[in-house]
Amino acid sequence: MTVLLESRAARVKWLAAPSSQAWLEQAVARADLVLIDHAHCERKAAGVALQLMFRYPSDESLGAQLSALAREELEHFEQVLALLQRRGIPLKQLPAPAYGSSLMAQVRKAEPQRMLDTFLVAGLIEARSHERMALLAAHSPDAELQALYGELLASEARHFGLYWVLCEQRFGREVTVERLRELAQFEAQALSGSLERPELVRMHSVGIQQA
Ligand code: FE
Repeated sequence: MTVLLESRAARVKWLAAPSSQAWLEQAVARADLVLIDHAHCERKAAGVALQLMFRYPSDESLGAQLSALAREELEHFEQVLALLQRRGIPLKQLPAPAYGSSLMAQVRKAEPQRMLDTFLVAGLIEARSHERMALLAAHSPDAELQALYGELLASEARHFGLYWVLCEQRFGREVTVERLRELAQFEAQALSGSLERPELVRMHSVGIQQA
């Protein structure tokens, strides 16, 4: 496959580095694996939103927004699951890449920094999903996958927008932007390097364009 990434289209404002051609080729070559992983990503994203509702139970506006987010992530999970089932692909467990846990390790332990960092990490994960789903929607040879990713990616853009707004409302623009820059660097670092084995490709496996 010799598609060239349109770096402008692939670029998402929050991210410190765009995804690489290598990631796209690996993901297209193992589309089933990426689809299974995507189902798990939606499930986990719903879990993160619920976890935050439990962690901050008396913040009404947060609760209302996260509840809507969790529902939407679950709807997406069901949508991806339905496609997997139509294709006879079992929703097997997949070893997760180090990405999520290495980002979560950057979250500071004390409040209110813990809240800011958790929102930003969740937002960065959504932003990367959005960017990669846009690549798959544009370059997947499978029309049904193109359509699915195309449909879901608009929501991912709203999801990272929501985490951004939640941070800005509570911490102000300056503090949010400064911490976001730091965490975005970690996010890009977490995706640097090359894939050890083709079957380890995931929505968030390594593969970014090196500066
Ligand atoms: Fe999402």
